[in-house]
Amino acid sequence: MKISRLTLWRLDLPLAQPYWLSGGRLRFDRLDSTILRIDTDAGVSGWGEGCPWGASYLPAHGPGLRAGIETLAPALLGQDPRSPDHICALMDRQLPGHPYAKSPVDIACWDILGQVAGLPLWQLLGGTAPEPVQVNSSISTGTPDEMIARIEASAAKGYRVHSAKIGGSDPATDIARIEAISAALAHGHRVTFDVNRAWTPGVAVEVLNSTASRDWVEQPCETLDQCVHVAARVANPILLDECMTTMADHLDAWRRGACEGVKVKPGRLGGLTRARQIRDFGVSVGWQMHVEDVGGSALADTAALHLAASTPEVHRLASWLGHDHLATDPVPGQGARNEGGFATPPSAPGLGVAPDPSSLGDPIAVYE
Ligand code: MG
Repeated sequence: MKISRLTLWRLDLPLAQPYWLSGGRLRFDRLDSTILRIDTDAGVSGWGEGCPWGASYLPAHGPGLRAGIETLAPALLGQDPRSPDHICALMDRQLPGHPYAKSPVDIACWDILGQVAGLPLWQLLGGTAPEPVQVNSSISTGTPDEMIARIEASAAKGYRVHSAKIGGSDPATDIARIEAISAALAHGHRVTFDVNRAWTPGVAVEVLNSTASRDWVEQPCETLDQCVHVAARVANPILLDECMTTMADHLDAWRRGACEGVKVKPGRLGGLTRARQIRDFGVSVGWQMHVEDVGGSALADTAALHLAASTPEVHRLASWLGHDHLATDPVPGQGARNEGGFATPPSAPGLGVAPDPSSLGDPIAVYE
């Protein structure tokens, strides 16, 4: 079986509401997503999606993703998509770095492999059943009262795990947010305070040692070195996200005691193949993980949720569904959706999500 064509669609995905991260220094109103279909000479097609969270969240952006696929396309044509490890190695040789451009290619190859094998991705990735995965809300930065109101609105949709986005230059504001949210949390609910790298190490140590909260704290500072410094001086369990890209980063974080868990995101790591390697490493060292994608429609969410559902529950914290923030839905009725705070991956062979091409508009590029 050979890859015979790659087709790209660009989707403009407006958010239902403006979204602030990192203490309000980053604002997002819409996402630039790319949907990829890989066709084969055997008549089987696979789908993938890559959707950076705007251009300011990670070193990734929509036009860069599409330029990456344009660069990779000549080498991908003629390759067997049923060998994702081979495809990943080939892409790394052709274009070092740029993991976000490789993720939709890798996901589409897994979709094809699953369809040919007659197995859903959750099973190919190591799962034994289509387990419902607990999903978490994502609470945009605001005043303590605004954030508590958003948590209550999410709770009404079934969410019992919340990721509250904090982080600013004023330690008192963050201390107030943490204490108010921790105190307001309903019985049985959990929260992670996601700083999105906004703190200097000094602010992180000051804030976290000034509250009684022992909730998880995510990506307190910009770099792994800074997060290692903080982890040694606070009592909260630490989750790392944006500063983790390669397997070497994860080995380094483990050796240095930087965290008790990580976010495992195909779009940041380079696809399901790389994310599965990181997930397996995390299981082996006892980490707890959020397995989810960087952003996108229910297509991207579902690919990540297959990996989440195949991860032992003791190593899972929760998974986030980016599509829950969108004003539009390019794959209505398909894929993993929030049902009372849990989402279940499809059990059809492969990814189990296939957009209707006629609903995507004209492709932006075709390589064959
Ligand atoms: Mg995060």
